[in-house]
Amino acid sequence: MSTTQPPTAIPNFIGGSWTRSQASECLEVRNPATAELLGYTPLSGAEDVDRAVRAAREAFPDWRSTPAIERARVLFRLKALLEREKPELAKSLTREHGKTLSESLGEIQRGIENVEHACGIPTLMMGDTLEDIAPGIDCETIRQPLGVFAVITPYNFPVMIPLWFWPYAVATGNTVVLKPSEQDPLTHQLVVELAVEAGLPPGVLNVVHGAREAVSAILEHPDIKGVSFVGSSETARFIYAKAAEHGKRVQALGGAKNHIIVLPDADLDLTTNAVVSSLFGSAGQRCLAGSVVVGVGEAYRPMRERLLDAASSLRLGYGLEEDADMGPVISRRHRERVIGYIHAGEQEGARLLLDGRGARVERYPEGNWIGPTVFEDVTPEMTIGKEEIFGPVAGIARASSLEAALSLVHRSRYGNAVSLFTTSGKAAREFRYRAGISMIGINIGVVAPMAFFPFGGSRGSFYGDLKAQGKDAIEFYTDKRVVISRW
Ligand code: NAD
Repeated sequence: MSTTQPPTAIPNFIGGSWTRSQASECLEVRNPATAELLGYTPLSGAEDVDRAVRAAREAFPDWRSTPAIERARVLFRLKALLEREKPELAKSLTREHGKTLSESLGEIQRGIENVEHACGIPTLMMGDTLEDIAPGIDCETIRQPLGVFAVITPYNFPVMIPLWFWPYAVATGNTVVLKPSEQDPLTHQLVVELAVEAGLPPGVLNVVHGAREAVSAILEHPDIKGVSFVGSSETARFIYAKAAEHGKRVQALGGAKNHIIVLPDADLDLTTNAVVSSLFGSAGQRCLAGSVVVGVGEAYRPMRERLLDAASSLRLGYGLEEDADMGPVISRRHRERVIGYIHAGEQEGARLLLDGRGARVERYPEGNWIGPTVFEDVTPEMTIGKEEIFGPVAGIARASSLEAALSLVHRSRYGNAVSLFTTSGKAAREFRYRAGISMIGINIGVVAPMAFFPFGGSRGSFYGDLKAQGKDAIEFYTDKRVVISRW
C-alpha cells in the first residue's frame, strides 16, 4: 500500500550523490518474518529517471575512455569490499527478504562471482583481427560500449540479480541506471556504497527507486540504449515489446514452471535432498525452483514417500535464527496469492497431501508464513500444473516413461530449467538432447549457471537473444564495430 513519502524514505543515487526522490508516494518495506518496518521506497517517476539518465550520459565519455584495466581495478576493489561486508550484507538481506542466513550468504557469493568475472574485462572485451581479407587489406572488430543501459530487477534475489548485469555494463565502459525491486531495495543500497568506496566515479552507476512509473520512463527515454530486465513473464514480455518499440536492445528474463523428472534407477538419497531443496529453498521463490516432480514408473511411490517425509520435517522460522530451514514469503499479499493457488488445486481435483496454510511461527505471529505444501495427481491442465506459484507449493505427477515425462515438460508455456535424476548415462544423454529447455540439470536440483556461463531460459521464460552473465553479457553491452583498412 502506498503512503506519502516521509523524510526517511530511501534516497536515489544520482551523479554520485544520495538524492531525495521527487516522488510524493512511497511503499513500506517490512521484514516478512517479523513485520518490522524497515524503510520506505519512494515511487520515483519520469523526472527522477531523467535526472539519472542525464548523470549517466554525462559520465559516459570519461568512463568509456578509462582504460579497461582501470575499470577492472574498481571492480577488483568492489569484490574485496563485498567479501569484507558479506556477513552484514547477508543479515540485511535476510531481514528484508526473509530467506535464511545461509541462503543470503549463498546469494551474495553468487553476486560476488559476477563481479569477479567482470574483472576479466580486458580479455573478455577483445575483438578479432584477420590480415589480408583481400590483398593488402586487413579487417578487425573492436567492441565498443553504447552509452546508458537500464537494469530493472525483481525482489527474489535483490543483491545477486543487479550484479548479473551492472558490473558487466560498467566493465565494458557503459554507464547504468538501476531500478531495483521496490519490495526489498535496502541491501543493494549498501552494495552501491561499497561501489563508491571502491572508486566508481560519479554518474557511472545511478539508482532510481520506484515501480511501474519509473519503468515506463526508462522504456521511453531516448537516451537509454538498452534494458536488462528480470521479473515475471507477463512483465518481461511487456518490457521486451515496449523497449524494442523505442529502439533499445533488450534482454528480458521471465518466470518459470520447472519440472524435475525422477527415473526408477535414480539414487534416491541424493535425489530427495536435491529435490526438497529445489522445491522449498527460499520458500519456493526462485526462478529455478522445482515446481512439478514427475516420478517415472516405479520411481513414483518411494519418491513420494521420501519427499513427504523430508518436506514435513522442514522447520519454518526467522532466517536470522539458527533453527530455521525455511523463511516466510515476501509479503502478505503474496501469501494470499499463494494460498489462492492452494485453494485452486483443491477445487480442480489435485490431492492435497501436505497443507502449509495453517503454518505458524509462535514467536513471530505477524510473519507471512506458509508451510511446505504438496499436491498429488497434478496435471498440466490444472492451474497449479501450469501457472507459476512462486511459493512453497509442489505438485507431484506420474509418467510411464521418460518420453511421457518429457511431453509434460513440452506442454508448459515456460522453459526456464528442467532436471533429471538417473544413474543411466543413456537416459541422461537422451534427456539433454530432447529437453528443449535452456538450463538443464542432470542429478542437480537447482540448475544455476555460474557467472562465466549464460543464465536465462527459453519459451515464455525469456524474451530476447543474449542472456545474463557469461560471454552473452559482453555481447549485450557492446557493439562489434568492423574496421577494414588498406594503407
Ligand atoms: P515483477 O515482474 O513483479 O517485478 C520485476 C520488476 O518489474 C520490478 O522492478 C517491478 O518494479 C517491475 N514491474 C512490475 N510490474 C510492472 C509493470 N506492470 N510495468 C512495469 N514494471 C513492472 O517480478 P517480482 O515479483 O519482483 O519477481 C518474481 C518473478 O521474477 C518471478 O516470476 C520469477 O520467476 C522471476 N524471476 C526470473 C528469473 C530468471 O532468471 N528468469 C530470476 C529471478 C526471478
